[in-house]
Amino acid sequence: MYINTRRWDIERLMCRCSLYTKKKKGERPKILIHACCGACSVYPLIYLACLFDITVLYTNSNIYPKEEYDKRYEALKKHIDFLNKTFNIEIKLILDNYEYDEFRNYLLPYADLEEGQIRCTICIYKRLARAFRYAKDLGFPFVSTIMNISRNKKIDDILKAGEHLEREYKGEVNFAYFEFRKNNGQDIGVELSKEEDIYRQDYCGCEFSRRNK
Ligand code: SF4
Repeated sequence: MYINTRRWDIERLMCRCSLYTKKKKGERPKILIHACCGACSVYPLIYLACLFDITVLYTNSNIYPKEEYDKRYEALKKHIDFLNKTFNIEIKLILDNYEYDEFRNYLLPYADLEEGQIRCTICIYKRLARAFRYAKDLGFPFVSTIMNISRNKKIDDILKAGEHLEREYKGEVNFAYFEFRKNNGQDIGVELSKEEDIYRQDYCGCEFSRRNK
């Protein structure tokens, strides 16, 4: 019964997207969305595909090692290719440089802390700051992230980072926050990623989270 309910939600969601994109193609506002991996992007991108003209930015120099960075990027690309084909849309994907050594220096002082503490606050802020920079340079009025789909991320860290950056960019780039966890968003994402055979990692990303898994 539980599974059936979720399936119905997925089908309703996909149907809604499909109808909307057919009617509104070309009229949607542009948004730059930071995505951390393929698995977490499954539900949010389906959810937003009908509302925005989406460009996804993969900027996650927190991820260790490089092979894992590449693997998550490939999973993200696979899901985007699926959506573009299914809905006849054109979600674009930008791959940022991998600069782990520099990123690691920000996290290292907090290496021994549990996930969810100051190390993660910094990690989230740095990635979002990078997304804001890209959004400004490329002329996007909105920027968002899918990181809040994960129950392991503190909503407050994401909201505070977004609001702070929005003030810093003085309204040139606006932070769009979506409640992806509502209505079983994470669970639907997990089910869908299985259906699409999308790679799902078993640690958050940095070498410290890998060590503690
Ligand atoms: S645990 Fe995850 S969010 Fe926290 S610092 Fe490591 S990669 Fe970043």
